[in-house]
Parts: sequence; C-alpha cells; structure tokens
Amino acid sequence: MPIFLVEEECEHSPEKNPTRQLALDSALGLTKGLQKKELTPKRLQLLLLGKTGSGKSATGNSILGRQVFESKLSARPVTMAFQKGSREWEGKELEVIDTPDILSPHPQVTAEKICEVLASPGPHAVLLVIQVGRYTPEDEQAARRLQEIFGNGILAYTILVFTKVEDLAGGSLEEYVQENSSKSLAELDVACERRHCGFNNRAQEADQKDQLTDLMKKIELVLWENEGHCYSTALPSVPSKTV
Ligand code: GDP
Ligand code: MG
Repeated sequence: MPIFLVEEECEHSPEKNPTRQLALDSALGLTKGLQKKELTPKRLQLLLLGKTGSGKSATGNSILGRQVFESKLSARPVTMAFQKGSREWEGKELEVIDTPDILSPHPQVTAEKICEVLASPGPHAVLLVIQVGRYTPEDEQAARRLQEIFGNGILAYTILVFTKVEDLAGGSLEEYVQENSSKSLAELDVACERRHCGFNNRAQEADQKDQLTDLMKKIELVLWENEGHCYSTALPSVPSKTV
C-alpha cells in the first residue's frame, strides 16, 4: 500500500530520466539548466533525518535562520513530534520538517504518522544529519534504517549533512568523509553521489549564509537528477503499527 498520498507529478521514477547523466554533463550550467527546464518547484520540502543528537533540530534552525525547533544536548530524544517551519529563500519557499527518532531500532512513531506528515507533497530532498567525529554503529544503523523504511531509491534524494564541522579545525570535509576510518561512511557518500555539506550550527550569520548556499547547491543537484520530483514510494518493510 502506498505510504504517501501521491500527487501525480511527484512520483519517483528513475525510468523517467534514463539519460540523467547525459543531462548532468551537458554544456548548460546546472542552475541555468534547471531554470530553463523549470525543474525547480516553488515550494521545496526538506526532510531532516538522522540519529538522536546528530543535530537535526539545530540544522533546521540554521536553515530557517531562526530558532523554531528545540535543540539541546540530551541522552534522550528531545524532539518528540514532527514539526514544520518555513522560510523564503531566493524566491522559493523552503519547508523544513524536523523529525523525532524514526531511524532508531525502537522508534515511538507509527507508520501512519509518518505517512500523514510526509504525504503532502513528499520530500524533495532528505538531509541525513551526521555529527562529525567517530562514525558509530548507531550512525550506520540509521543509514540502514533510512533505506529499509523508505526504500533504496531514497538515496537519490539524500544529502549527507555533517554538523559540528568546526571540530574539523580547518581540515576539509572532503578528507574527513573519504579518509574516515569507517569504510561504510565513504560508501554511503558514494551511494549519495558524493552530495554532502557541512554545518556549524553555532556559526555567525555570514557563515550560516554560506553554509545554506552550499546546501542549496546540493539540493539543486538532487532536483536536477530527479527532474524536480519529490520522493514518494511504498514503505515495504514497515509493520502496520509502529516503525
Ligand atoms: P537532534 O536530536 O538531532 O535534533 O539534535 P539537536 O539539534 O538537539 O542537537 C544536539 C546537540 O548538539 C545540541 O546541544 C546542539 O546545540 C548541538 N549541536 C548541533 N549542531 C551543532 C554544531 O554544528 N556545532 C556544535 N558545537 N554543536 C551542535
Ligand atoms: Mg531534535
């Protein structure tokens, strides 16, 4: 049974764009190409996912440019419900969805609730939030759960968003991702076609703007590759009661 109430134009279908690599290699600049093909929807839904404490709510606040979501250090999940916030960015409406703990092995959220929240229209991009530092078995598990819940196709919509990048102390995020002791992080990055970016959620305003600009470039890539469609799919492995 489909989990999202799908608007027809939003369906995920890689077959619709078999030549997407060709399109990417075209002489057109990405932004120019997107504008020309009108692939950028006016309203973009961005879904924050990741393990508890990775910095989802803080990243949501950074994107929105104001404190909308509660974000604090805690051993227990702080965000208990789906929450939405929006802002305007260069003529588009960004709708950011902060999520409770849905990628852990024992989430408190029902599949019906996920369905209800994500039905309209479905995310244009998934921001998988990971804190810089040791890539832990819980992080690996969260990435696995993401695919189990939403299907493998979700990775075509996923951007890895690393928080606490100030801890890199000037080192490059590129190096961190590729030379991390965890092979699975590098593999996940490749599976997401190396779409990643960094956030210092405690940065000053000017840096925050640069971070968001970088994220928006990655989102443009996702839109280009998926012809502006949002993600919608059946949730094959979700038990009917809770996920
Ligand atoms: P969530 O559970 O994934 O929503 O995580 P939160 O947004 O609540 O963040 C957990 C903790 O990490 C909070 O204390 C945040 O202030 C902190 N945090 C999040 N992002 C950053 C960051 O970029 N830099 C630093 N120093 N702390 C961060
Ligand atoms: Mg939170």
